[in-house]
Amino acid sequence: MLRVAIWEQPGVFALSVLASMLYGAMTVAGGWALGWSTDHLIRPSFERGDTTGGTIAALISLFMGIAILNAIGVVGRRLGAGVMQFRLQATYRRRVTRQYLKLPLEWHHQHSTGMLLSNANADVESTWFVIAPLPMAIGVIAMLVFATIAMFAADAWLALVGCLVFPLVFVANVIFQRYLQPLATRAQQLRADVSEVAHESFDGALVVKTLGREAAETERFRAPTYALRDANIAVNKARGMFDPVIDGLPRLGVLAVLLVGVGRVRSGGADAGDVVQVAFLFTLIGFPIRALGWVLGELPRSVVGWDRVQRVLTAEGGTEYGEARLTSTKAARLQVAGVRFGYLPERDVLTGVDFTIEPGRTVAVVGPTGAGKSTLTTLLTRLVDPEQGAVKIDGIDLRELARDELAGSVALVAQTAFLFDDTIRGNITLGGDYSDDDVWDALRIAQGDGFVKALQDGLDTKVGERGTTLSGGQRQRIALARALVRRPRLLILDDATSAVDPQVEARILAGLRSAVQSSGQDDTGAATTVLVIAYRKATISLADEVLFLDEGRIQAHGTHTELQASTPAYRDLVDAYEKDTERRLEEAQEDAQLDSEGVSA
Ligand code: ADP
Ligand code: MG
Repeated sequence: MLRVAIWEQPGVFALSVLASMLYGAMTVAGGWALGWSTDHLIRPSFERGDTTGGTIAALISLFMGIAILNAIGVVGRRLGAGVMQFRLQATYRRRVTRQYLKLPLEWHHQHSTGMLLSNANADVESTWFVIAPLPMAIGVIAMLVFATIAMFAADAWLALVGCLVFPLVFVANVIFQRYLQPLATRAQQLRADVSEVAHESFDGALVVKTLGREAAETERFRAPTYALRDANIAVNKARGMFDPVIDGLPRLGVLAVLLVGVGRVRSGGADAGDVVQVAFLFTLIGFPIRALGWVLGELPRSVVGWDRVQRVLTAEGGTEYGEARLTSTKAARLQVAGVRFGYLPERDVLTGVDFTIEPGRTVAVVGPTGAGKSTLTTLLTRLVDPEQGAVKIDGIDLRELARDELAGSVALVAQTAFLFDDTIRGNITLGGDYSDDDVWDALRIAQGDGFVKALQDGLDTKVGERGTTLSGGQRQRIALARALVRRPRLLILDDATSAVDPQVEARILAGLRSAVQSSGQDDTGAATTVLVIAYRKATISLADEVLFLDEGRIQAHGTHTELQASTPAYRDLVDAYEKDTERRLEEAQEDAQLDSEGVSA
C-alpha cells in the first residue's frame, strides 16, 4: 500500500521526505550547537567573567540559522504530507465512484447504499491517514541515524545510554498503539452506528411521529450513544495512562545521561558540552519518535480500508458496449425475443418473454404485483442483460449499441420520482441544453404546467431535498417532463403516474398520444413509441395494445376489449384494480387538494 502511495505521488513524496530529513538533521544540529557553544562560547565567557558582542552575535546567528532551516523542514514536510494524503484520497474516491458507475446493476443489488457510501468515503479516508505521519517517520529514522552519529562523536558511554533509551521509547509507543488501536476502531464503528440510527429515525420521522414511537426511538438511540461514550472514554483513559510514560521516558534518559556524564567529565573522558548536547537531544527526540508509533498504529486501519476499497476496484463485470449507433429519428421499434431473466440462480422472474411493438404504438403492460413488470423495464433500458434471448431496438441488439447510445433514444420514468435538490428547470433539463419553450412543452404534456406557473418563482422554484416541497403527484409530473423534454423515441412509464388522480392520468396519456402523433417527422406517424405499465382501466383502455404479463410470460397480447373477452385472468385483475382505484381516488383527491394549496401558496 505504501509502495502504491509513493508510486502515485513520487514528486510530493520526495519533497516531503527531503524536508523531513532537513528537519531531522536540524534537530540534531540544535543539540550539537548547544554542546559546541557550551564549550567554545559560554564556558570561556564564564571563565573570563566577561563576554563580547562577537560571541553574542555568533550565538544568535547559529541558533537562528538552525531554527530557520528547521522551520523550513517542518513546513515542507507538513505541506507535502498533506498534499499527498488528500490527493490520494481524491484520486481513490474518484476511482471508486467511477467503478460504481461501471459495475452492473446486479452488483449494486448485492451491496447496500451505506456500504457504497462508506467505501467511497470513510474507507478511502482511513486508507490514506497513514500518509500524514509517513514523511515525518522517515525523517525520524534519518534523525535517529544523525543523533547516534552525533552522540558517538561526543562520547561513546553517553551514546550507549542513548542506544538504550531510544529503543525503549519506540517500544513503549508500539505497545501503546497496539493497545489503543482496537479501542479507536471500535469508537469509529460506534460513531457510524449512532449516525445510522439517527439517519433512519429522521428518514422515518412521519412514521415515528404518527405512530407515537418517539419514546421507543429515543430508547433505540440511547444504546449506541452510551456505547460510543464509553468507547471514547476508554480511548482517553488509555491516552491518559500512556502519555506520561511516553513523555517521561526521555526525561528519565536525561537523568541517566547526567549520572553517567558527570562521571565522564570528572574522569576527563568528556567535556561538559558533550553532556549538554546528549541531554538536550533526549528532550528533542522524544516527540518526533512518536511519529513512528503513529505510522505503525495507523497501518492496521489503513490496511482494512485498503482491502475494502480494493474489493470495489477489482470487482468484475462492467457492462460491455458495442459500436452500433441508432440513426433513425422516428419512433423506435421494440422487439423482445425469448427473454429469460432471474435475480436468483434457480428462480426465474421472466421465463420466456416474446413480443414486438411497432413504431409509434402506445402499449400497456398489465400484470399482477411481482409478475416482473419493473424487471422488464430494467431489461429494456439495459440496466441488466437477459440470461437468454435478446432485446432489440430498431432491430439492433442492445448489447451491440455503443455507450450512451441507448440513453439518447429511450427514457424510463420510474414509479418513485427522484428529484434533486435543485430548481424545477434544473430537475427537468439535468444540465442538458434545452430552451424554456422545450421545458414548458414537456410540462404541458405531463400536465404540470399549471402548478409550475402558479409557483412564485416558476421554473426557478427550488424543490428542496428529494423534492420535499412538492406533492407526490407533482414530483411524478416533473419526472415525466424530464423524460419528455429529451424527446425519446421509446418512452417507458413504470407506474409513473400512480400519485396523480385518474382523470389527470388519462389526460397525460391522451396528451402524450396526440403530442407524439403530431410531432411525427412525416405523415408516416408518431415520433415516440410508448410502453406504459398501468393499473387503471381508464388508462389501459387508452392504449393501442395491451400485453398481459403473468407467470414469467406474455399470456395475451391484443386490445383491451379483446383481452377482456378472451382472458378471464386479465378481466379479473383489471376489475380488482378498478375497485382499488376507487379507493385510491379519494387519496388522489386529497393529493389534488394539496396541489391547489401549492397553487395558492
Ligand atoms: P412488478 O413490477 O411486476 O411488481 P418486479 O419486476 O418488481 O415486479 O419483481 C418481480 C419479482 O422479482 C418479484 O418476485 C421480486 O421479489 C423479485 N425482485 C425484484 N427485484 C429484485 C432484486 N433486486 N433482487 C431479487 N429479487 C428481486
Ligand atoms: Mg413494479
